[in-house]
Amino acid sequence: MLKHNLGYPRIGIKRELKKACEDYWNNLITSKDLFNIGKTIKINNWKIQEKCGIDLIPCNDFSFYDHVLDMSFLLGNISEVYSTKFKEDIDIYFAMARGIQKNELDLKAMEMTKWFNTNYHYIVPEFEPNQKFGIYSMKLFNEIDEYKEIINKAIPKPVLIGPISYLYLGKEKNKIFNKFDLVDNLLPIYIEIIQRLIQKNIKWIQLDEPILVFDSLTDQIIKSFKYVYQTINKICDDNAINIIVTSYFDSLEEKNLDIFKNLSSRFNLHIDLVENYSQLTKILDFLQKQKMGLSLGIINGKNIWKNNYTHSIKLIKQAILKLGKERIMIAPSCSLLHIPIDLECETSISKNIINKMAFAKQKLYELNDLENILNGNKEKLCNNLKYFDKKKQCIIKQQITKVHLNRKNSFHIRQKTQQKKFQFPLFPTTTIGSFPQTKEIRKLRKNFKNNVITKKTYEQCIQKVIIDAIRTQEKINLDVLVHGEFERNDMVEFFSDKLKGFVSTKNGWVQSYGSRCVKPPIIYADVKRVSDMTVKWISFAQSQTNKLIKGILTGPVTLLKWSFVRDDQPYYETAYQIAWAIREEVKSLENTGIQIIQIDEPALREGLPLKNKHWKFYFNWAIKAFRLSSSVVKDETQIHTHICYSEVNDIIKYLSDLDADVITIETARSKMELLNAFSNFSYQNEIGPGVYDIHSPRIPEVKEILNLINKASTKLPIKNIWINPDCGLKTRTWHEVINSLKNMTTATKIARQQHS
Ligand code: GLN
Ligand code: ZN
Repeated sequence: MLKHNLGYPRIGIKRELKKACEDYWNNLITSKDLFNIGKTIKINNWKIQEKCGIDLIPCNDFSFYDHVLDMSFLLGNISEVYSTKFKEDIDIYFAMARGIQKNELDLKAMEMTKWFNTNYHYIVPEFEPNQKFGIYSMKLFNEIDEYKEIINKAIPKPVLIGPISYLYLGKEKNKIFNKFDLVDNLLPIYIEIIQRLIQKNIKWIQLDEPILVFDSLTDQIIKSFKYVYQTINKICDDNAINIIVTSYFDSLEEKNLDIFKNLSSRFNLHIDLVENYSQLTKILDFLQKQKMGLSLGIINGKNIWKNNYTHSIKLIKQAILKLGKERIMIAPSCSLLHIPIDLECETSISKNIINKMAFAKQKLYELNDLENILNGNKEKLCNNLKYFDKKKQCIIKQQITKVHLNRKNSFHIRQKTQQKKFQFPLFPTTTIGSFPQTKEIRKLRKNFKNNVITKKTYEQCIQKVIIDAIRTQEKINLDVLVHGEFERNDMVEFFSDKLKGFVSTKNGWVQSYGSRCVKPPIIYADVKRVSDMTVKWISFAQSQTNKLIKGILTGPVTLLKWSFVRDDQPYYETAYQIAWAIREEVKSLENTGIQIIQIDEPALREGLPLKNKHWKFYFNWAIKAFRLSSSVVKDETQIHTHICYSEVNDIIKYLSDLDADVITIETARSKMELLNAFSNFSYQNEIGPGVYDIHSPRIPEVKEILNLINKASTKLPIKNIWINPDCGLKTRTWHEVINSLKNMTTATKIARQQHS
């Protein structure tokens, strides 16, 4: 029974990768320095995993920005727009990821979207009709050489995104062809890669095919799957190479099992038993008639709680009984990319909570424990038992009724009331909430936190930056202003620090995209609001201007989704507890005179279950939570919400059920394509489609923005359109923000003239 790992966090224990990339982008270090830092992180990761006793260690899971973009690079799927502009590959790579605006160059970043139901973002591959592929990047192969120099006991296991998931995750540049037809061009390159790996004496390869959990795969996709894996099967038999095909984030869909009929014993399937352990029986029944091996994803790669050994051992034994020990492997459920690295860095979490937790490194030791227990070590099992003895009961459970979930009147009536009151011009302009989190701001908060400055000094400084931000917004002539979120380190952590039932970590960083990391808090008990959380600064801002300030809150689904959530009660119970807390805050803001309140739900889309059949259940509680938090206000108080995602076709009905007066949404990178969904559905409420991409440092031109406004105007009733950036501006510089917003208001002014 081999122990393996699907992927290890790559940001480095002190976020070395973040710093190195940012230094490189700012010309502070050379590409050689950058590669050296990358190498050091990789070597550390391998050494740790070897020490944890992992038999097969993942390789090629490291990436300077994103492993999907790495895959595009490996396969030579690089648009000429980028490839012809730079001498060094790494510069092409970063230009694809982030865009670039430097000297003569003005390249947009490629589209980025969320990785299944996680908060990780990947760069969407793009395909041309009859797209050709060919091995381009040597990163994968070089990494194996590096590995072999350092590690001699544990076996390297290169990780690749499987060909069908790669096609699935990408998009056709124009819709005149079907990307799955490209499989004939793509498969030979995968075969070539596998052959090169065989030449390098590689014995194990992991092909990630997470789309195997979908219940919506078309016949064509299933057919392509069969074709690909039957073909790969042939090289496996001829050479002593073993393949692990992984599924994760949900159960492997039963009807997709057909793909793996009659594959050789060198094939292994990996399944996620954390998301769904009841799939095991069916999978075992299937495999009993097959020769393939089975990898049990038994340790939660997405959450930070200790493994329940009793439960895991039961599953492992069940599998061994059916297939025999030789055919079984154990592993975390998915890549550990989604959890922090090492619990040993946490010094301030109380003992009774931390004792129940495990981060990436600890999870790998858990695999060892499980093996030891199987070999008869009773002590480890007994020790583990005490963390799972008593299930905590949910205490706060207020009755939720219709009255709590509905505004007084329907949207159309509210819209009239609000129009009369606010008198906004056509195409009102606003932003999503945050303004640049400069070094000074971060230092200010840090100094206050560490008692280096007094509360008084801190508050005076925050007042000053809020006033500056307001003056800047007034100068740019935005219609609805924000206070800028300067007091917030992070849109989740800020609230979780103030709510009971949450605890935050010191160093629990997780990669979100590129060099951007987040530090999800942990919900370990019932959530409760104990006092006002945002009222002070938002009402201060309002006191400084005659324009309206929009109060910004983080919504219940996002607070839940971007935290590590307790697993001893259903998710929705925790969501409702958070919703009650936000509801109280909304009421409090309204009571102090704030007339526009935005409840951010950027995570709503990513929380969507991967199987269509689970959507209804999900939206049922998610929408209920949002409405519980927002419906408490009077008709004339305008509720905004913001979601970041560029694909809404399939969820438009649910967005409409949120019944927010205004929804702002990411659309710039997809060039307003997503508005078709709103227009086809004839979405009633007001919408602010993002008119420029904030993930990139480039400043959009007036022309470009105007174009997008006009495009939006053809798809939506113009009286319902708001103009705003795609998302919050905290990752940008003031220079970028001011110039971009100026161009935005200029474009809006022109659009108003054109449309009035
Ligand atoms: N109000 C938040 C901000 O502007 C929203 C961020 C988000 O959507 N992720 O930063
Ligand atoms: Zn956003």
